[in-house]
Amino acid sequence: MTRAVKGKLAILGGPKTVTKDPGKMFRWPIVTREDEQAVLDVLRRGAMSGTDITKQFEAEFAQWMGMSFALGYCNGTESLRAAMWACGLGAGDELICPGMTYWASCTAALSLGAAVNFADIEAHSLCIDPKDIEHRIGPRTKAIMVVHYTGYPCDMDPIMAIARKHNVKVIEDVSHAQGSLYKGRKCGTIGDIGAMSMMAGKSFAIGEAGMMVTNERQLFERCVAYGHYERTGAASLYNPVDKSILNVDLNKYAGIPLGGFKHRMNQTCSAMGRVQLKYYEARIAEIQAAMNRFWDLLEGVPGLRAHRPAKDSGSTMGGWYAAHGLYRPEELGGLSCAKFCEAVRAEGVPTHPGANFALHLHPVFHEADIFNMGKPTMISFGQRDVRQGTGSLPVVENTGNSCYSIPWFKHDKPAIIREYANAFRKVAEQADQVPR
Ligand SMILES: *Cc1c(COP(=O)(O)O)cnc(C)c1O
Repeated sequence: MTRAVKGKLAILGGPKTVTKDPGKMFRWPIVTREDEQAVLDVLRRGAMSGTDITKQFEAEFAQWMGMSFALGYCNGTESLRAAMWACGLGAGDELICPGMTYWASCTAALSLGAAVNFADIEAHSLCIDPKDIEHRIGPRTKAIMVVHYTGYPCDMDPIMAIARKHNVKVIEDVSHAQGSLYKGRKCGTIGDIGAMSMMAGKSFAIGEAGMMVTNERQLFERCVAYGHYERTGAASLYNPVDKSILNVDLNKYAGIPLGGFKHRMNQTCSAMGRVQLKYYEARIAEIQAAMNRFWDLLEGVPGLRAHRPAKDSGSTMGGWYAAHGLYRPEELGGLSCAKFCEAVRAEGVPTHPGANFALHLHPVFHEADIFNMGKPTMISFGQRDVRQGTGSLPVVENTGNSCYSIPWFKHDKPAIIREYANAFRKVAEQADQVPR
């Protein structure tokens, strides 16, 4: 199983390792006649803008998650913006967020007049480092955004303990991690509120769509009032509205969204979502089998480490969205991750070094004056200046040399997976041959 892969590296003119046709190995989402029929029904009924199907999808999704409330969104970015507002993030406040994630995990905080205080990540999980959170909490910190990066569950126990101690909300960005487990519990069910993308390229992929989940009715009602104008105060499963929410009777705002946002999900997406949900567990189970097979084949190869929780931890990678591997250059004579990836690409695998770029160094979080106030938005509402320069988040800043993308298999096909694993093994075992 772990025999060495000999042969001249392809980058030096040797034969390519990957030669088989991968077929539908990488195709995602899996769309069948049932999805097509569900979407066609919406089109033929002219029901794209209603909420009847979305409400069914919300109820089914909430049940699958084991949560009291779910609310559909036009995209993940807006579900996150609403979650931040629902948690009380406002002008002059702060949100703590990992320095490496997709920008939508935190950028909407600026539109609320809040600042983002970026924390470092853990080298093994690529998720927010629980040890880099508490010292960042100040009097105006309202929430901690955690991102289960590429499906790897954040270490929620210490994060929740810190948040409870300081009376700060925890928002889970579940965009990569629908179906991931943290010690047996679904990601998105552990913090105060979960929000996520369901965009066509994600793990749960149904178009341009998003979802919010929570067990707190107050947070649900605030999300409704913020961007679902036609549902504010309307008779529903959860209404009549509790007057203690927002300290006012939300009914009086019915008809106009408090945030001025329109967050409704297109029902071609919710119709597809209902179908996708039926098969999701079975499909990610096959992905898990395939991805674990890939990493089992590479166990013990110098320089390479699986990006997955320990097998007996009760934690999983869910749908392994945008799967990555970890890189240890010191075990490969200092070969850079970029040069390593170049050699693996020559073997026939499209891999690239790094992951999302470091957000704390981006000019949007240093200079951008979104409100035309003559000052960067990060400091224009009386926030503490929490801007951070190069060198402040060392693990985030090193990701270009500590991780790389790997094939995201959707089917457990051993012969094909073995070829891809062999490409990584071949280069790692002959790292001294790779042109520097
Ligand atoms: C994709 C993504 C989002 C944004 O979701 P959209 O549906 O594209 O708006 C937010 N957070 C993370 C971590 C993402 O990967």
